[in-house]
Amino acid sequence: MSGPSSAFTPLLRVKNLTKRFRQGNTSIEALREVHLAVNRGEFVTVMGASGSGKSTLLHLIAGLAKPDSGRVEVEGTDLFALSDRALTIFRRRRIGLVFQAYNLIPSLTAEQNIILPILMGSTGRESTDQLEGLLEQLDLTGRRKHRPDQLSGGEQQRVAIARALVADPAVVLADEPTGNLDSVAGQGICRLLRRLCDEHGRTIVMVTHEAAVAVWASRVVVLKDGRVIDTFKTAQFGDADALATHYQNVVAAAQVTEAQA
Ligand code: ADP
Ligand code: MG
Repeated sequence: MSGPSSAFTPLLRVKNLTKRFRQGNTSIEALREVHLAVNRGEFVTVMGASGSGKSTLLHLIAGLAKPDSGRVEVEGTDLFALSDRALTIFRRRRIGLVFQAYNLIPSLTAEQNIILPILMGSTGRESTDQLEGLLEQLDLTGRRKHRPDQLSGGEQQRVAIARALVADPAVVLADEPTGNLDSVAGQGICRLLRRLCDEHGRTIVMVTHEAAVAVWASRVVVLKDGRVIDTFKTAQFGDADALATHYQNVVAAAQVTEAQA
């Protein structure tokens, strides 16, 4: 691909992102000068306690909310330089969203839910040829005719992930995708996301507060009170417990620094 985005520039670039929420006369800084770069084919998790700004960051990366300052570039496109309409179109075509709740249409089968964005004409694509491949990648071939109420939570989330992939987006953003699942089903989703990255070159940014989930990514970015306080590669840790210990140490050290400031 030519133009501002190439194999040598990060697929996603977040620069100096700040977001405040005003409530009455108080203001919460949900994000403070956040920088982040994600390469094509990378699997990154954003880890942090409840209220640390994870969902806010993901919403801004998806262009679902606007920052007070800073920018988000996806494939070289500055999201907040686009008109609202152009941003909506860009999001539908280039960004895949997965949430904790699966948000499937109850009356449609798994395969109908997956191709719905194509049928609605919002993706810029007309062919549904990719359906077979997605059913296979997400281990859903045997479940394609089932409706959501005939599927387990893990299966429903797999349908939601397939739907997020149907437009062939540049990046998949997942906000606590295992949050409604038991640990076995949650680990299944993590393994699948890892496989989508390794075998199909997907770029994934996933939010979680759990070390057992974060450990599946290649790199972890730690948020605390809206700030990035650390970023590390998961390969240096043998398992989720070692990662959890490091995470807790990093958060505790940030607390001490704040107290001294
Ligand atoms: P996380 O996803 O890490 O739990 P959030 O990004 O949801 O954190 O929230 C970060 C902070 O911003 C929290 O203090 C939260 O209460 C606040 N916040 C998030 N969304 C809103 C909103 N729409 N209005 C007011 N405050 C908000
Ligand atoms: Mg959240």
